[in-house]
Amino acid sequence: MTFSIFGLAVSPGIAIGRAQLVSHATLEVAQYQLRERDIAAEQERLDAAFDTVRAELEALRDEATAPGSPAELEAFLDLNVLILADPMLVDASRELIAERRCNAEWALVQQMEQLVAQFDEIDDAYLRERRQDIVQAVERVIKVLLGKPRKISKRARDKDELVIVIAHDLSPADTIQFKNLRIGGFVTDLGGATSHTAIVARSLAIPAVVGMHHARPLIQDDDLLIVDGARGVLIVDPDPRVLEEYRLRQGTLELERSKLKRLKTARAATLDGVDISLQANIELPQDVDGVKAVDADGVGLFRTEFLFMNRDELPNEDEQFEAYRAVAKALPGRSVTIRTLDIGADKQARSLRGAGNSGPNPALGLRAIRYCLAEPQIFLAQLRAILRASHYGRIRLLIPMLAHVTEIEQALAMIQMAKGQLREARQRFDEQIEIGGMIEIPAAALALGPFLSRLNFLSIGTNDLIQYTLAIDRSDEAVAHLYDPLHPAVLRLIAQTIQAGQRAGLPVSVCGEMAGDPQLTRLLIGMGLRSFSMHPTQLFSVKQAVLGADTALLTAKVTRLLRYEEPDRIREQLARLNAAAH
Ligand code: PEP
Ligand code: MG
Repeated sequence: MTFSIFGLAVSPGIAIGRAQLVSHATLEVAQYQLRERDIAAEQERLDAAFDTVRAELEALRDEATAPGSPAELEAFLDLNVLILADPMLVDASRELIAERRCNAEWALVQQMEQLVAQFDEIDDAYLRERRQDIVQAVERVIKVLLGKPRKISKRARDKDELVIVIAHDLSPADTIQFKNLRIGGFVTDLGGATSHTAIVARSLAIPAVVGMHHARPLIQDDDLLIVDGARGVLIVDPDPRVLEEYRLRQGTLELERSKLKRLKTARAATLDGVDISLQANIELPQDVDGVKAVDADGVGLFRTEFLFMNRDELPNEDEQFEAYRAVAKALPGRSVTIRTLDIGADKQARSLRGAGNSGPNPALGLRAIRYCLAEPQIFLAQLRAILRASHYGRIRLLIPMLAHVTEIEQALAMIQMAKGQLREARQRFDEQIEIGGMIEIPAAALALGPFLSRLNFLSIGTNDLIQYTLAIDRSDEAVAHLYDPLHPAVLRLIAQTIQAGQRAGLPVSVCGEMAGDPQLTRLLIGMGLRSFSMHPTQLFSVKQAVLGADTALLTAKVTRLLRYEEPDRIREQLARLNAAAH
């Protein structure tokens, strides 16, 4: 049966493919009471489910021992067999069924949570991470209990068919792994439009819809799906007519994209000849290929925290140095702005414990520079790595989440210290490296003096600036409707920052998602912005908007627009700016 579900459009494009549910078993399990006489049968049901999964694993293990199979797979399967033999799962769950007269799934999840909680206490990062193996092993049993045995044999799937990942939630760390997989699109129940999960999806150009609330329970593995990432729609089991229509739309989009590619060699200048710098945001060194493909002026934001994700140990100074140097060397003559670790809130790395998700309000917690100043050794290692790489290209150093003058001063002192350590070790670096600050907390935008006097450049992080100005969590879909880049308070903070930078002779760029939205390009140019940094995928659309802009006309019109406080009037004025060629 065909049906549609609506969510937040976060990454445009159309994906057609087969559903693959990424499950968190605990979310699906309901509790119900048994009659006394049904207890034994329920325990048997649990035993049978364990037996089924063990048999599946044994069968897979036989395949895994065949010559040429990866050794890790065998070890992984052995571990799963061991987990499923643990009395704390098997016997204790049976006992719980009898004690509480509860269903097998629920009993098993309770036991799993106890076991997992014990793992969370372990100091050793590797062992701690084995908690995930327990969850996955238990998920297999629960799927059998729920009557949805996991298809663990290789699926007979058309080679060209894409996978659409369906998850309750995906972390930015999960999503970045899609870089190496052939994922057509993804859909999640949770998430906001500028959550880092959404940002990564856009950077990968993977169509995505988030904030679906209850899509997961309605979809089954292998369902045929259409993800319309521009409209925020998921169509399940489409009929042939709808499928055909979407295939046509896919073709049209492809055509539009290839037309835009013609802009690659065009100079990014306005009608009145003002050059606009269009730079790229990256998450990993391998993203430089995308930067070169669109001929961006450089990297305006390298989100280095992604180097720290999906691993048990921190990347050491040398590994970081290699990563930063690789980017600088791949872009000779172009500037590369490396932002120091912005970990915390929705961006988590298991190698960095305590980074801002343990407090009561992670977005307001120990994030970014706050974490780095609290962990000077980690910060210093990163600073040395960036400084060493600066010898090989035009690197600039950017500090996130600054609000207090003391933070600026402490960060600068740490940079001096890192420089001193390198001099002592006779390591070369760019003595004149420019240091910039992100303006992404309203306090910073409202009291810019210390930033202007102590730093070499500013970069406005509109994603967080909006989050903190409007007091809405950018990753929470429940308040996503309040996330408004056009709120007059947000626009004024951005305009003030650009203009204060101009007056002080300090370069200002925007590297938040607003910079990559072609609907906002002329508005930002009218505020005086001359430097934008965005996902490479957005660059040609923004360049097209630049080519039809006239700075003098826009300055006057945007000055008027900024006086409005009614959202409707602001949107009306913006529509006019974009409709006319200026
Ligand atoms: C921002 O806040 O706008 C920004 C660019 O940084 P991030 O999205 O990584 O927080
Ligand atoms: Mg930010």
